[in-house]
Amino acid sequence: MSTSASVRMPVIFFGHGSPMNTLARNRYTEAWRKLGAAAPAPKSILAISAHWVTRGTAVTAMAEPRTIHDFGGFPQALFDFQYPAPGDPALAMRVRELLAPVEVDLDQSWGLDHGTWSVLAHAFPDAAIPVVQLSMDGTQPAQFHYDIGKRLAPLRDEGVLIIGSGNVVHNLMLMQRGENVPAFDWAQRFNGEVRVALASGEHQALIDFGRLGEAARLSVPTPEHYLPLLYIAALQAGDEDMAIAVDGYEAGSLGMLSASAGMPRL
Ligand code: ZN
Repeated sequence: MSTSASVRMPVIFFGHGSPMNTLARNRYTEAWRKLGAAAPAPKSILAISAHWVTRGTAVTAMAEPRTIHDFGGFPQALFDFQYPAPGDPALAMRVRELLAPVEVDLDQSWGLDHGTWSVLAHAFPDAAIPVVQLSMDGTQPAQFHYDIGKRLAPLRDEGVLIIGSGNVVHNLMLMQRGENVPAFDWAQRFNGEVRVALASGEHQALIDFGRLGEAARLSVPTPEHYLPLLYIAALQAGDEDMAIAVDGYEAGSLGMLSASAGMPRL
């Protein structure tokens, strides 16, 4: 890794899938590891996780964010997992400044949830880089989230690696058991349309994903896993391509696409 001074940081969307990926090694986690290794060394990481949706917008502002195990029904080893990265209160203040006049609550109670640490466990396993989380305002439409992403762009030139963590296709109700179950047609259709929009930089198509009808309703039954992608798309600069790092489907209805923009060649 090189140093971060005056280097524009890449932006990364991670498709995190099951929390168990934290403890696994597979082609997704290997892609995440490579993304972390290829990125210039960040001063700090700002994470937008599917698992922190709030009324209004908040940013974690504590010096030592706790590792939140925000799920049930997983093995004890996952509850024992810790990602003891420090916080970065100065970055939290900077985010608040950049997003004004949108009010940003300086949060002292959240921490790092598994949307963030399940992928950082592979991308930055040392947990040495400070991490701040930005919540998503659950009362706001897709365009708002895209616009917030745009406003964060100066951070890329300040040594901050911005990551989104969710899943393009995320339907837990329709998950199928078994090995190598095929993806549903609607999942492949929706993911395919998202890939086309990412490749061509048609961000309005990403924002207006509901236009894809049934494929969108089934792939994005609730928006929280999709929305982190909009922040990352918004941060893609005009001279950058969005590169797919890995893609695939788990349990028929989870899309595992991860992508980055502005990354030095892998
Ligand atoms: Zn999730």
